[in-house]
Amino acid sequence: MVKTWEQLEELQPTVLRMLKMSLIKNRVAHAYLFEGPRGTGKKDAGLLFTKALFCPSLIDGYKPCETCHNCRRINHGNHPDVHIVQPDGLSIKVEQIRSLQAEFSKKGLESLKKVYLIVDADKMSISASNSLLKFLEEPSAQTTAFLLTEQPQRILPTIQSRCQALAFQPLAPKMMVKQLVENGVAPEKAQLLANLTNNLEEAISLNTNEWFAQAQKIVVKLYEVLNKSPLEAFVLLQTDWFSHFKEKDQVNLGLDLLLLIFKDLLYIQLDKRAQIVFKEVSSRLEQFALQTSGRRLSIQMSAILEAKRKLSANMNPQLLMEQLVLKLQEGSSFV
Ligand SMILES: [Zn+2]
Repeated sequence: MVKTWEQLEELQPTVLRMLKMSLIKNRVAHAYLFEGPRGTGKKDAGLLFTKALFCPSLIDGYKPCETCHNCRRINHGNHPDVHIVQPDGLSIKVEQIRSLQAEFSKKGLESLKKVYLIVDADKMSISASNSLLKFLEEPSAQTTAFLLTEQPQRILPTIQSRCQALAFQPLAPKMMVKQLVENGVAPEKAQLLANLTNNLEEAISLNTNEWFAQAQKIVVKLYEVLNKSPLEAFVLLQTDWFSHFKEKDQVNLGLDLLLLIFKDLLYIQLDKRAQIVFKEVSSRLEQFALQTSGRRLSIQMSAILEAKRKLSANMNPQLLMEQLVLKLQEGSSFV
Protein backbone atom coordinates (compact mmCIF):
# COMPACT_ATOMS: atom_id res chain seq x y z
CA MET A 1 0.00 0.00 0.00
CA VAL A 2 1.50 3.31 -1.07
CA LYS A 3 1.40 5.96 1.63
CA THR A 4 0.53 9.54 0.79
CA TRP A 5 2.36 12.55 2.18
CA GLU A 6 -0.47 13.18 4.66
CA GLN A 7 -0.47 9.59 5.92
CA LEU A 8 3.26 9.59 6.53
CA GLU A 9 3.16 13.03 8.08
CA GLU A 10 0.77 11.67 10.67
CA LEU A 11 3.28 8.92 11.56
CA GLN A 12 6.52 10.89 11.37
CA PRO A 13 5.74 14.60 11.60
CA THR A 14 9.30 15.73 12.35
CA VAL A 15 10.91 13.81 9.52
CA LEU A 16 8.31 14.92 7.01
CA ARG A 17 8.69 18.55 8.05
CA MET A 18 12.43 18.33 7.41
CA LEU A 19 11.89 16.72 4.02
CA LYS A 20 9.29 19.30 3.10
CA MET A 21 11.63 22.18 3.98
CA SER A 22 14.49 20.75 1.96
CA LEU A 23 12.19 20.46 -1.08
CA ILE A 24 10.72 23.92 -0.71
CA LYS A 25 14.09 25.59 -0.09
CA ASN A 26 15.65 23.46 -2.80
CA ARG A 27 18.31 22.15 -0.45
CA VAL A 28 18.20 18.45 -1.05
CA ALA A 29 21.14 16.56 0.48
CA HIS A 30 23.26 14.16 -1.57
CA ALA A 31 22.67 11.41 0.95
CA TYR A 32 20.20 10.74 3.73
CA LEU A 33 20.45 8.25 6.55
CA PHE A 34 16.99 7.19 7.71
CA GLU A 35 17.31 5.48 11.06
CA GLY A 36 14.59 3.97 13.23
CA PRO A 37 12.85 0.72 14.20
CA ARG A 38 11.17 -1.57 11.70
CA GLY A 39 7.75 -0.57 10.53
CA THR A 40 8.18 3.16 11.13
CA GLY A 41 7.90 4.20 7.47
CA LYS A 42 11.56 4.64 6.42
CA LYS A 43 11.17 3.04 3.01
CA ASP A 44 7.82 4.71 2.41
CA ALA A 45 9.39 8.08 3.21
CA GLY A 46 12.35 7.38 0.89
CA LEU A 47 10.04 6.52 -1.99
CA LEU A 48 7.77 9.47 -1.28
CA PHE A 49 10.74 11.85 -1.35
CA THR A 50 12.02 10.19 -4.52
CA LYS A 51 8.67 10.85 -6.16
CA ALA A 52 8.90 14.47 -5.07
CA LEU A 53 12.31 14.69 -6.79
CA PHE A 54 11.00 13.31 -10.08
CA CYS A 55 7.42 14.59 -10.16
CA PRO A 56 6.88 17.44 -12.64
CA SER A 57 3.59 18.50 -11.05
CA LEU A 58 4.27 18.87 -7.34
CA ILE A 59 1.37 19.97 -5.18
CA ASP A 60 2.16 23.03 -3.00
CA GLY A 61 5.74 22.76 -4.17
CA TYR A 62 6.62 19.55 -2.29
CA LYS A 63 3.93 16.85 -2.48
CA PRO A 64 4.19 14.39 -5.37
CA CYS A 65 1.04 14.30 -7.50
CA GLU A 66 0.83 10.46 -7.42
CA THR A 67 -0.74 10.43 -10.88
CA CYS A 68 1.97 11.45 -13.36
CA HIS A 69 4.07 8.96 -15.32
CA ASN A 70 7.04 9.33 -12.93
CA CYS A 71 5.01 8.96 -9.73
CA ARG A 72 3.25 5.91 -11.06
CA ARG A 73 6.41 4.19 -12.21
CA ILE A 74 8.09 4.79 -8.84
CA ASN A 75 5.02 3.36 -7.11
CA HIS A 76 5.25 0.31 -9.33
CA GLY A 77 9.00 -0.07 -8.79
CA ASN A 78 9.91 0.36 -12.46
CA HIS A 79 11.39 3.82 -12.85
CA PRO A 80 14.66 3.43 -14.78
CA ASP A 81 16.53 6.02 -12.69
CA VAL A 82 15.47 4.77 -9.26
CA HIS A 83 17.40 1.84 -7.82
CA ILE A 84 16.75 -0.14 -4.68
CA VAL A 85 19.48 -2.28 -3.14
CA GLN A 86 18.68 -4.75 -0.40
CA PRO A 87 20.57 -7.59 1.29
CA ASP A 88 21.25 -10.53 -0.95
CA GLY A 89 20.91 -13.21 1.72
CA LEU A 90 22.45 -11.97 4.95
CA SER A 91 24.48 -9.10 3.60
CA ILE A 92 24.78 -6.46 0.93
CA LYS A 93 27.75 -7.51 -1.15
CA VAL A 94 30.38 -5.41 -2.83
CA GLU A 95 29.19 -6.55 -6.27
CA GLN A 96 25.80 -5.03 -5.55
CA ILE A 97 27.35 -1.64 -4.79
CA ARG A 98 29.64 -1.93 -7.83
CA SER A 99 26.78 -2.64 -10.19
CA LEU A 100 24.96 0.34 -8.69
CA GLN A 101 28.01 2.49 -9.43
CA ALA A 102 28.23 1.16 -12.96
CA GLU A 103 24.61 2.10 -13.41
CA PHE A 104 25.28 5.58 -12.05
CA SER A 105 28.28 6.20 -14.26
CA LYS A 106 25.85 6.29 -17.17
CA LYS A 107 23.72 9.35 -17.67
CA GLY A 108 20.22 9.27 -16.29
CA LEU A 109 18.07 7.47 -18.81
CA GLU A 110 15.47 10.18 -18.94
CA SER A 111 16.95 13.08 -17.03
CA LEU A 112 20.21 13.70 -15.19
CA LYS A 113 18.60 12.71 -11.92
CA LYS A 114 19.25 9.42 -10.23
CA VAL A 115 18.20 8.05 -6.88
CA TYR A 116 19.20 4.96 -4.97
CA LEU A 117 17.84 3.49 -1.78
CA ILE A 118 19.85 1.02 0.28
CA VAL A 119 17.59 -1.01 2.54
CA ASP A 120 19.23 -2.38 5.73
CA ALA A 121 22.36 -0.40 4.93
CA ASP A 122 23.98 -1.71 8.14
CA LYS A 123 24.17 -5.11 6.43
CA MET A 124 26.74 -3.91 3.90
CA SER A 125 29.91 -5.99 3.98
CA ILE A 126 33.12 -4.11 4.77
CA SER A 127 34.13 -4.01 1.14
CA ALA A 128 30.63 -2.90 0.12
CA SER A 129 30.83 -0.10 2.72
CA ASN A 130 34.21 1.04 1.44
CA SER A 131 32.98 0.96 -2.09
CA LEU A 132 29.93 3.03 -1.18
CA LEU A 133 32.11 5.47 0.74
CA LYS A 134 34.12 6.27 -2.40
CA PHE A 135 30.87 6.78 -4.22
CA LEU A 136 29.63 9.19 -1.55
CA GLU A 137 32.92 11.07 -1.61
CA GLU A 138 32.36 12.06 -5.25
CA PRO A 139 28.75 13.14 -5.24
CA SER A 140 27.16 14.15 -8.46
CA ALA A 141 24.84 17.10 -8.22
CA GLN A 142 21.91 15.09 -9.45
CA THR A 143 22.30 11.99 -7.34
CA THR A 144 20.40 11.37 -4.14
CA ALA A 145 21.01 8.43 -1.84
CA PHE A 146 18.83 7.04 0.93
CA LEU A 147 20.42 4.68 3.41
CA LEU A 148 17.85 2.98 5.61
CA THR A 149 18.78 1.26 8.85
CA GLU A 150 17.51 -0.01 12.17
CA GLN A 151 21.06 -0.05 13.52
CA PRO A 152 22.87 3.17 12.66
CA GLN A 153 25.71 2.35 15.06
CA ARG A 154 26.74 -0.40 12.66
CA ILE A 155 27.30 1.99 9.78
CA LEU A 156 30.84 3.29 9.19
CA PRO A 157 31.24 6.70 10.85
CA THR A 158 32.82 7.96 7.63
CA ILE A 159 29.62 7.05 5.79
CA GLN A 160 27.42 8.54 8.51
CA SER A 161 29.31 11.81 8.34
CA ARG A 162 28.44 12.17 4.66
CA CYS A 163 24.73 11.70 5.22
CA GLN A 164 22.04 13.87 6.67
CA ALA A 165 20.58 11.68 9.42
CA LEU A 166 16.86 11.66 10.15
CA ALA A 167 15.51 9.69 13.12
CA PHE A 168 12.20 7.87 12.69
CA GLN A 169 10.29 7.54 15.95
CA PRO A 170 8.53 4.38 17.16
CA LEU A 171 4.80 4.70 16.71
CA ALA A 172 2.72 5.92 19.65
CA PRO A 173 0.14 3.29 20.81
CA LYS A 174 -2.79 5.26 19.43
CA MET A 175 -1.15 5.52 16.02
CA MET A 176 -0.23 1.83 16.17
CA VAL A 177 -3.87 0.88 16.70
CA LYS A 178 -4.85 2.94 13.67
CA GLN A 179 -2.12 1.41 11.51
CA LEU A 180 -2.98 -2.10 12.64
CA VAL A 181 -6.64 -1.67 11.82
CA GLU A 182 -5.66 -0.28 8.39
CA ASN A 183 -3.63 -3.46 7.93
CA GLY A 184 -6.63 -5.67 8.58
CA VAL A 185 -6.20 -6.39 12.31
CA ALA A 186 -9.51 -6.53 14.22
CA PRO A 187 -9.91 -3.39 16.38
CA GLU A 188 -10.43 -5.41 19.59
CA LYS A 189 -7.08 -7.12 19.00
CA ALA A 190 -5.24 -4.02 17.81
CA GLN A 191 -5.25 -2.40 21.23
CA LEU A 192 -3.71 -5.42 22.93
CA LEU A 193 -0.97 -5.63 20.28
CA ALA A 194 -0.25 -1.91 20.46
CA ASN A 195 0.33 -2.28 24.19
CA LEU A 196 2.86 -5.05 23.69
CA THR A 197 5.06 -3.60 20.96
CA ASN A 198 5.58 -0.40 19.01
CA ASN A 199 6.87 -2.32 16.05
CA LEU A 200 4.19 -2.52 13.40
CA GLU A 201 5.48 -5.59 11.59
CA GLU A 202 5.99 -7.49 14.81
CA ALA A 203 2.43 -6.67 15.90
CA ILE A 204 1.01 -7.80 12.56
CA SER A 205 2.89 -11.08 12.74
CA LEU A 206 1.85 -11.68 16.37
CA ASN A 207 -1.74 -11.19 15.33
CA THR A 208 -1.75 -14.33 13.22
CA ASN A 209 0.68 -16.28 15.37
CA GLU A 210 -0.78 -19.48 16.84
CA TRP A 211 1.68 -19.51 19.75
CA PHE A 212 0.59 -16.01 20.71
CA ALA A 213 -3.12 -16.89 20.57
CA GLN A 214 -2.46 -19.79 22.91
CA ALA A 215 -0.27 -17.63 25.14
CA GLN A 216 -3.15 -15.23 25.77
CA LYS A 217 -5.42 -18.11 26.80
CA ILE A 218 -2.86 -19.48 29.25
CA VAL A 219 -2.28 -16.06 30.80
CA VAL A 220 -6.01 -15.52 31.32
CA LYS A 221 -6.29 -19.02 32.78
CA LEU A 222 -3.40 -18.32 35.15
CA TYR A 223 -5.09 -15.18 36.36
CA GLU A 224 -8.34 -17.03 36.94
CA VAL A 225 -6.78 -19.86 38.95
CA LEU A 226 -4.76 -17.36 40.97
CA ASN A 227 -8.10 -16.25 42.31
CA LYS A 228 -9.13 -19.77 43.20
CA SER A 229 -6.30 -21.45 45.05
CA PRO A 230 -2.49 -21.34 45.27
CA LEU A 231 -2.27 -25.04 44.55
CA GLU A 232 -4.18 -24.79 41.28
CA ALA A 233 -1.94 -21.98 40.15
CA PHE A 234 1.16 -24.11 40.73
CA VAL A 235 -0.43 -26.99 38.86
CA LEU A 236 -1.18 -24.71 35.93
CA LEU A 237 2.44 -23.57 35.80
CA GLN A 238 3.45 -27.22 35.44
CA THR A 239 0.76 -28.30 33.00
CA ASP A 240 0.50 -25.26 30.74
CA TRP A 241 2.87 -22.41 31.46
CA PHE A 242 6.40 -23.86 31.49
CA SER A 243 5.88 -25.88 28.34
CA HIS A 244 4.52 -22.88 26.44
CA PHE A 245 6.76 -20.05 27.68
CA LYS A 246 10.16 -21.58 27.13
CA GLU A 247 12.44 -18.89 25.75
CA LYS A 248 13.28 -15.79 27.73
CA ASP A 249 11.48 -13.58 25.18
CA GLN A 250 8.40 -15.74 25.50
CA VAL A 251 8.41 -15.53 29.31
CA ASN A 252 8.79 -11.79 29.03
CA LEU A 253 5.83 -11.57 26.68
CA GLY A 254 3.81 -13.78 29.05
CA LEU A 255 4.60 -11.40 31.91
CA ASP A 256 3.62 -8.42 29.76
CA LEU A 257 0.28 -10.07 29.01
CA LEU A 258 -0.27 -10.81 32.69
CA LEU A 259 0.52 -7.19 33.51
CA LEU A 260 -2.06 -6.05 30.98
CA ILE A 261 -4.76 -8.09 32.72
CA PHE A 262 -4.05 -6.28 35.98
CA LYS A 263 -4.07 -2.97 34.15
CA ASP A 264 -7.46 -3.87 32.67
CA LEU A 265 -8.82 -4.57 36.14
CA LEU A 266 -7.58 -1.18 37.24
CA TYR A 267 -9.20 0.48 34.22
CA ILE A 268 -12.49 -1.19 35.08
CA GLN A 269 -12.26 0.11 38.64
CA LEU A 270 -11.46 3.59 37.37
CA ASP A 271 -14.34 3.35 34.91
CA LYS A 272 -12.01 3.75 31.91
CA ARG A 273 -13.37 0.81 29.98
CA ALA A 274 -12.29 2.14 26.58
CA GLN A 275 -8.70 1.37 27.63
CA ILE A 276 -9.30 -2.34 28.25
CA VAL A 277 -7.17 -4.57 26.03
CA PHE A 278 -8.50 -8.05 26.92
CA LYS A 279 -11.85 -7.17 25.40
CA GLU A 280 -12.80 -10.78 24.66
CA VAL A 281 -12.86 -11.69 28.37
CA SER A 282 -13.93 -8.31 29.69
CA SER A 283 -17.17 -9.58 31.24
CA ARG A 284 -15.18 -12.03 33.37
CA LEU A 285 -12.72 -9.31 34.28
CA GLU A 286 -15.64 -7.14 35.43
CA GLN A 287 -16.46 -9.81 38.01
CA PHE A 288 -12.88 -10.02 39.25
CA ALA A 289 -12.58 -6.25 39.44
CA LEU A 290 -15.40 -6.20 41.96
CA GLN A 291 -13.53 -8.57 44.25
CA THR A 292 -10.27 -6.70 44.57
CA SER A 293 -8.95 -3.27 45.49
CA GLY A 294 -6.92 -0.73 43.54
CA ARG A 295 -4.24 -0.90 46.20
CA ARG A 296 -3.91 -4.64 45.86
CA LEU A 297 -3.81 -4.41 42.08
CA SER A 298 -0.95 -1.96 42.16
CA ILE A 299 1.01 -4.20 44.56
CA GLN A 300 0.46 -7.10 42.18
CA MET A 301 1.56 -5.04 39.20
CA SER A 302 4.78 -4.10 40.98
CA ALA A 303 5.38 -7.81 41.63
CA ILE A 304 5.10 -8.52 37.90
CA LEU A 305 7.45 -5.67 37.04
CA GLU A 306 9.90 -7.02 39.61
CA ALA A 307 9.66 -10.46 37.95
CA LYS A 308 10.44 -8.85 34.58
CA ARG A 309 13.53 -7.23 36.08
CA LYS A 310 14.66 -10.56 37.54
CA LEU A 311 14.12 -12.21 34.17
CA SER A 312 16.33 -9.69 32.43
CA ALA A 313 18.96 -10.36 35.13
CA ASN A 314 18.80 -14.02 34.05
CA MET A 315 17.01 -15.50 37.03
CA ASN A 316 15.73 -19.03 36.44
CA PRO A 317 12.28 -18.59 34.82
CA GLN A 318 10.66 -21.49 36.73
CA LEU A 319 11.74 -20.20 40.11
CA LEU A 320 10.78 -16.72 39.08
CA MET A 321 7.24 -17.75 38.12
CA GLU A 322 6.75 -19.76 41.31
CA GLN A 323 7.81 -16.80 43.42
CA LEU A 324 5.56 -14.54 41.40
CA VAL A 325 2.52 -16.77 41.88
CA LEU A 326 3.08 -16.67 45.65
CA LYS A 327 3.47 -12.88 45.59
CA LEU A 328 0.33 -12.40 43.51
CA GLN A 329 -1.67 -14.40 46.02
CA GLU A 330 -0.47 -12.48 49.05
CA GLY A 331 -3.37 -10.65 50.60
CA SER A 332 -5.96 -12.94 49.09
CA SER A 333 -8.28 -14.90 51.35
CA PHE A 334 -6.31 -18.12 50.82
CA VAL A 335 -2.95 -17.13 52.23
ZN1 LIG B 1 3.80 13.12 -10.05
